[in-house]
Amino acid sequence: MNKEALLKTYWGFDSFKSLQGQIIDSVLANKDTLAFLPTGGGKSICYQIPALIKHGFALVISPLIALMEDQVNGLREIGIKSMYFQSDPKAISISQQLDNAINGNYKVVFVSPERLSSRLFLQQIKSAPISLIAVDEAHCISEWGHDFRPAYRKINYLMTLFPDIPKLALTASATPEVKKDIETLLDLKLASRFQNSLERPNISYNIWNTEDKYNSVIQLLDFYKGSSIIYCYSRKETQYLVNFINKHKHRASNFHGGLLRSEKKQRLKDWHEGKISHMVATSAFGMGIDKLNVRNIIHISLPDSIENYYQETGRAGRDGKPSQTYLLYHQGDLNKLEKRIFDQLPDEIELKGIYKDLCNYFQIAYGEGQQRDFSLNITEFCNRYKRTEKKLHQCLIQFEKTGIIKWYASKARQLQIKSKIYPERMLHFIKNDNTKARVIEHLIRHYPNFFTQSIRVSIQRICFALKVSSERLLLVLKQLQQENLIDYTGSTLTFYLSFQVPREDKYTLRPTIALLKNLRTQKIKKLDALVEFIKDDLNCKRNLIFKYFGEDFITNCEQCSSNSCKSDDYISPYFRFKIIELLKIKPHSIHELNQKLYFKPKALESFFSELLEKQIISKNSLYKYYYTYE
Ligand code: ADP
Ligand code: MG
Repeated sequence: MNKEALLKTYWGFDSFKSLQGQIIDSVLANKDTLAFLPTGGGKSICYQIPALIKHGFALVISPLIALMEDQVNGLREIGIKSMYFQSDPKAISISQQLDNAINGNYKVVFVSPERLSSRLFLQQIKSAPISLIAVDEAHCISEWGHDFRPAYRKINYLMTLFPDIPKLALTASATPEVKKDIETLLDLKLASRFQNSLERPNISYNIWNTEDKYNSVIQLLDFYKGSSIIYCYSRKETQYLVNFINKHKHRASNFHGGLLRSEKKQRLKDWHEGKISHMVATSAFGMGIDKLNVRNIIHISLPDSIENYYQETGRAGRDGKPSQTYLLYHQGDLNKLEKRIFDQLPDEIELKGIYKDLCNYFQIAYGEGQQRDFSLNITEFCNRYKRTEKKLHQCLIQFEKTGIIKWYASKARQLQIKSKIYPERMLHFIKNDNTKARVIEHLIRHYPNFFTQSIRVSIQRICFALKVSSERLLLVLKQLQQENLIDYTGSTLTFYLSFQVPREDKYTLRPTIALLKNLRTQKIKKLDALVEFIKDDLNCKRNLIFKYFGEDFITNCEQCSSNSCKSDDYISPYFRFKIIELLKIKPHSIHELNQKLYFKPKALESFFSELLEKQIISKNSLYKYYYTYE
């Protein structure tokens, strides 16, 4: 089958999106290829179709397990044999998995860059029938990229093992520096290059300085119809905002990294099916999420960089229909940015301290520890050394990036629960009809030892059985404890650590410290660029974004919030009605109206002059408008 027929047969699409065809041809002609296409530009098909045509399998290097999993599931659904390497200790060994990949007639095989640092893995993969090597999200290779991963730099070695096989690097966001890094570090200077403008003409960029973001969100949701993603900074905030939105008669749910897999799945499903319209999320949400008709992206906290802002706003309007994005901020946000850097990265002292604590905890002496594996009880560790889970986690990420410690977190979160009262009283208690009673009833039914000893239960299992979220369950347990009915100890999330190099404090941490310093500088630079972008009210926002990516536009977008582009706008009949309704109740100034209803200032101006002219409204001596008709 040729590429068009494959596109139709497997995906059901009639034609290629811009540049897809050329990129595929280039790979099929065995040329190294660079593809810069916007988010939603259809990059995956650029390696999937060549993989189907060529003998063997395409090896795709991808940064996130979640992304790989989605892709593999998607491909399996349409009948393309695909897999990724799972490092779950319960899965079969990596070497066996690789054996399957080599002998199993797979077409697309995903691998993380970290996996490629294993010599054994590279040794074994040498004999694999690889048809092409694709590097997805290739910006990760550059320390200028928004998601720098040192392990990406090891890809080059893999490539030297397969000198005759075409390489394909794909990314959506590439500033001039990132592009240069991709070319040099992957040795693709001679590659064919395909680049579409990163512009998304159906998306409008609006910056709104507002003191009351929650109400502003409601105004926007009232004004614009359709599905939204609302980005918050913290998990807690997503919960507050969801409650607020739902009180205002919109259907929203929240999403963040702390939810159980089953919860995430359910919420995503509800959102895809339109049972909930708005997803309130931390920035972890979105990569690889393929909902085409997201109409609004609202940020109530600042993104980390223009790259992230572009990526996150890019999740609107993948169907090509008009969509809007709003970044809500106030001066206080700009002042807090320094704290954010402190929040997100450990400092050198913490890094050294936590490394030492880990060595002490596991009793690793100087010069020892290499290639040894340990399991870490986080709660216990953090209590003993007065560390926060967050900082521990951040340090481990940096250790892993620089090859000092590999680690993963165990998925099952366990609780230990013990009853503090006699069965009779408990049985009496469960006659109530509330979640507390249901939890207790579940424990009594499923854990015969509940009254005699402390039992271990998986949060996930109870949540699933009772159909409650993990937050709700933990809240209920806390209440039960306060009422002295039970005792419980929190979830004992376990990390499994594998030390890669011997303990030798002075030298061991050098690369990590250097990396950290670099990350800090990058972060500050990027935040500065973002602040400049936000504060610039004169120039077209779209043009400012693309100037940052090295692309120049001659004209303005005519749809952003900047003074260059503020456009006259239509006010919907519903809003006309709402405005009149308010003016009937009492006189309002423009400012007061704007507190209650969102509108575009220019649009209101023309609507009001029309009403004044027709003498439907008048203005009083306090510059307030009131209804005069009839
Ligand atoms: P990217 O990785 O560039 O962000 P994806 O590969 O995830 O984009 O594709 C985005 C969406 O576009 C997917 O839903 C995909 O099925 C769809 N798509 C890809 N190619 C085509 C095409 N030729 N015609 C129509 N839809 C396409
Ligand atoms: Mg992609």
